Amino acid sequence: MNDIFDLKGKTAIITGASSGLGRHFAKTLSAAGANVVICARRIQNLEELKKEIDGEVLVLPLDVTSEESVLDFYSEVKKTVGSADILINNAGTSDPKRFKDLDEQSWNYVLETNLNGAYRVAKNFTDSLIEDKKPGSIINIASILGLRVGLNLASYATAKAGLVQLTKSMALELARSNIRVNAIAPGYILTEINDDFFATEEGQSYIKNIPMKRLGLESDLDGVLLLLSSDASAFMTGSIIPVDGGHLINPL
Ligand code: NDP
Repeated sequence: MNDIFDLKGKTAIITGASSGLGRHFAKTLSAAGANVVICARRIQNLEELKKEIDGEVLVLPLDVTSEESVLDFYSEVKKTVGSADILINNAGTSDPKRFKDLDEQSWNYVLETNLNGAYRVAKNFTDSLIEDKKPGSIINIASILGLRVGLNLASYATAKAGLVQLTKSMALELARSNIRVNAIAPGYILTEINDDFFATEEGQSYIKNIPMKRLGLESDLDGVLLLLSSDASAFMTGSIIPVDGGHLINPL
């Protein structure tokens, strides 16, 4: 039964693998048998991660905000491993600000990374699959903030809501090419992006609003990650799956 999650012989690209969730996703997919391509801007972190993984690992630089970097990345992937089978579109950032304090620079930075960057990476991935007539699976890492809103996060919530719609639009159009596109919408998972915040009093009070009364652990995402990456989800596309300890079902 466990074989339905087996990823042996598959190649998975994980963007933003230099820290946090991406780093964990790379380890999880490799442990399930996948060859992994790990990418981000901090190459040193990726080289360190490579040492911790037993299976095949390719380290490549990637800045999702640069079209040139994305094109260079895929030409290197194509040369080395051909078209990959799985894309974990995970690179992301946030710049929390009250709406009245938002400026163009901050807004553009968050949208450029979380939405335009995710589009750019996914578009080139699917172009390559379509050219090679290969099936594939894309997992966009959205957020519960793509489905609800929170204070000081207008740019992030807007970008993630865009990513949710991108997931569904791509799923609709790419089903005929055998490319599945789904998203995970994590709730609050403790990583570098938010550890400072959860150490504050405000952060601690957020945790009280989560029905399960705790932050998620990186390993809480393993099940859904393996489900969506593998043939176990062969009939799933366009799904947005929250993993949030019940945060979205808070009473109104
Ligand atoms: P981290 O800050 O730990 O990781 C973010 C990753 O994205 C880093 O590896 C970073 O690598 C990469 N990244 C950022 N900008 C770029 C860029 N321009 N080009 C390439 N890579 C980039 O955060 P998390 O692990 O927590 O977040 C991972 C994803 O999960 C994000 O999309 C986030 O929005 C999402 N998420 C996280 C939640 C959480 O509670 N942690 C909840 C819901 C969603 P580098 O700086 O080396 O380029």
